[in-house]
Amino acid sequence: MRYVSTRGQSPDCDVESALLAGLAPDGGLYVPSLLPRVDVDKVVNEVDVLRPFFEGSELILENLEIISKEAYKNSVEVKELDSQNIFLELFHGPTSAFKDYGAIFFANVLNLISNRSNFSKTVLVATSGDTGGAVASAFSQFPIPVEVYFPISGVSERQKKQLTCWGGAIKSFAVEGVFDDCQKIVKTRLGNSSEMYTTANSINLCRLLPQVAYFAMTSLKYPNYSYVIPSGNMGNSVAAFWAKRMGFPIEKIYIATNENVAVKNFFDTLELKKFETINTLANAMDVGLPSNLERLKALYSSRSELGKDSDTQKVSDKDIKEAILETYEKFEYVICPHTATAVSYAQKIKEPKIIVSTAHPAKFETIVEPIIGDRIDLPVNLKKLLQLPSKYEVISSDELPSKK
Ligand SMILES: *Cc1c(COP(=O)(O)O)cnc(C)c1O
Repeated sequence: MRYVSTRGQSPDCDVESALLAGLAPDGGLYVPSLLPRVDVDKVVNEVDVLRPFFEGSELILENLEIISKEAYKNSVEVKELDSQNIFLELFHGPTSAFKDYGAIFFANVLNLISNRSNFSKTVLVATSGDTGGAVASAFSQFPIPVEVYFPISGVSERQKKQLTCWGGAIKSFAVEGVFDDCQKIVKTRLGNSSEMYTTANSINLCRLLPQVAYFAMTSLKYPNYSYVIPSGNMGNSVAAFWAKRMGFPIEKIYIATNENVAVKNFFDTLELKKFETINTLANAMDVGLPSNLERLKALYSSRSELGKDSDTQKVSDKDIKEAILETYEKFEYVICPHTATAVSYAQKIKEPKIIVSTAHPAKFETIVEPIIGDRIDLPVNLKKLLQLPSKYEVISSDELPSKK
């Protein structure tokens, strides 16, 4: 498998080079030169889904079974509340959001590579709330240094704790700005000295590929269902598009966003345009220009083609609150504000569909508890983290922290 840049100005490369670089030298994102078609009937587990992507790295292929076991040991659960409300719960990992699958997978791959060679890269991660915690947690058991950048007033208190409680080789920076400023810091550092850094954001292939596997595996259990996906930086959605292109029986991909408009604008124009970030109740999706739109653009050359496979809708904070309340009243089932965007969108979709549940509601208790008028039990993992001390440094949005 060869990987190419979405901007077409970088030489193609193998999977290890792509994941170590994070960003292609031309500033684009790596994508498979051709998405592998699989014989769906022969797929029995995640390893079968992922294997073709790692052709070209003996090291990863030999260890794919063990790495996948680690990444997917936290279950992916389907909750069928009724025929219109089927939830794919992706929040049973150590930091209670779907980012855990990709982060654990990536940390294990990087650790393998670092054990084989003299490896001295620092992993950079910009986070709108959940990625940073998942990545820090995944790397906390390895000696690889990590720098986490988060928007100082864009994350919930519990998210903040998960971003700042690790110590050791993991450093956290509260950026006086929005997520896009954090992302810019990471991209600038990567661009300036790619020998020193890589990124664990979903601009990195190796964060995104493991997410292909749960869409693929779920589609085998629920053939020809559509997916409604709460989306911000679009990593999860692009993973679903890749699974569909591989031949897995996924009907349509519905992209639920909050009030941020870049995705809607892309569907209207096929253009990547940056907008001011709007702060919403679904903070992990507060993104002005989603990086992975570049990967989606690489898949489609016309709006009508895109429209056959997919659609998008913006969901307001008011509708988020309503969806949380309605779901609770109807099923006594508590959802997080991100999942609520998908629930709200799903109410307008008639065909069989699966709602992707991206985080545990207990991470956003200050939003959710007043709406439902009830307390949310903390998952055990989260409870443990909340007891650790926090440590972080505040930096301005145009400041790069000084080199050690
Ligand atoms: C990151 C995140 C999203 C958005 O996912 P993308 O892959 O960035 O589109 C949605 N919900 C939650 C809870 C998240 O943490």
